[in-house]
Amino acid sequence: MSLETLRAAEEYIDRGFALIPLELKSKMPNFPVLESVYKNRGWKHLEESPASLKDIKSWLSYDPKTNIGIISGRASNLVVIDFDESDTNIDLPTVPEVKTYRGKHLFFSASNVDFSLTKHSLKGEIRGNSHYTFAPPSYHETGYQYHWRVSLNDAPLADWNSFKGHSLITQAFASCRQGRVSTTSYPYISKANNTPISPYCEPSSLGCFTGVLEIVAQWLGIAPRFSDTHSSSFRCILPGHEETRPSANFFRHPVSGLWIYKDHHHDGTCYTLADLRASLAAGRALKLEQKPTCLYWYGRLFADCGIIEPARIAIQTPTCCSEATQRAADGLSLLMGIRALLNPGEPVPFSPSFASIWCGITKKQHQIAMRQLEGWGSIKREGSYKQDNVRTSILWNVC
Ligand SMILES: [Zn+2]
Repeated sequence: MSLETLRAAEEYIDRGFALIPLELKSKMPNFPVLESVYKNRGWKHLEESPASLKDIKSWLSYDPKTNIGIISGRASNLVVIDFDESDTNIDLPTVPEVKTYRGKHLFFSASNVDFSLTKHSLKGEIRGNSHYTFAPPSYHETGYQYHWRVSLNDAPLADWNSFKGHSLITQAFASCRQGRVSTTSYPYISKANNTPISPYCEPSSLGCFTGVLEIVAQWLGIAPRFSDTHSSSFRCILPGHEETRPSANFFRHPVSGLWIYKDHHHDGTCYTLADLRASLAAGRALKLEQKPTCLYWYGRLFADCGIIEPARIAIQTPTCCSEATQRAADGLSLLMGIRALLNPGEPVPFSPSFASIWCGITKKQHQIAMRQLEGWGSIKREGSYKQDNVRTSILWNVC
């Protein structure tokens, strides 16, 4: 067992950091360790309930050479800037800093982190939720050992909130107008299928990947085993069903290749992953009918699971904004961010029936919110489309 790793892990845990075991010579999670210690290949649970020192001992007794990483974002109340070059020439405060193989990692303390990842022009990225960073004393694949150039005792963690107005950060977020598939989820997706995926792809197409399903299942709190075409059964998670015996499973649709949820208890009713996410939001089992709506709910699910990163679309609201209107603004901004995966800048529909479920507000609150947001000049109408023979829906965009 590596005492050096154990001591470092102890210090990180004392500071409230969530850790993850990483493979010795790759940037991937250490799946054999995860599987052996947690009976689960995923690592998202380590964001929710961080590993204890006892866990770390188990990791090390299974694989004495395992690398360790620190999970950024809400899990550790950390934001990490990863520069690919060490000489960045940018005016930054002195914060704890890890010397990496080529560049450096800077650590900031942050509460309620609300983003996952942003690329910036300086060859690097800013990491928040659902991402991790190699931590000393881990080894790079070249044999280089990560170490603290400025240790956690040498400098305090600067507060991210007081720093995020820095031009570097605002530029980084501004350049992140188009969402993409999270690089963190690549290993899960490609490893399971050996299929390269585009970072900008239609959300529903991700629903064909078993690796994606494993992440989704974990987010749903179930852990079925997957074959190429089926999963094992588990207790139905649809709202209101509350079944006591395993009565649902996933199967791969033979034509579309999409993974489908089958509820055997209720006459074998089938739900898409989009239906499933919408049902959870609505608090009742429902099946979506319109294709665009399905795409948005697929996007919502994959964003929740950290599989895709919606673009960051800011909808400005004044301080007097009510909670319901803020929910509408946040929901609309998420919707636009998902839309931007394929069609950046295009307006989106936001009908009362869709928005009320999407944002958890009433149709009346939606009506008031849209009037207010338009009145404040936060959003604008940009055309309309025929929802069906009766209803017409307005298309909205940010100002
Ligand atoms: Zn059911």
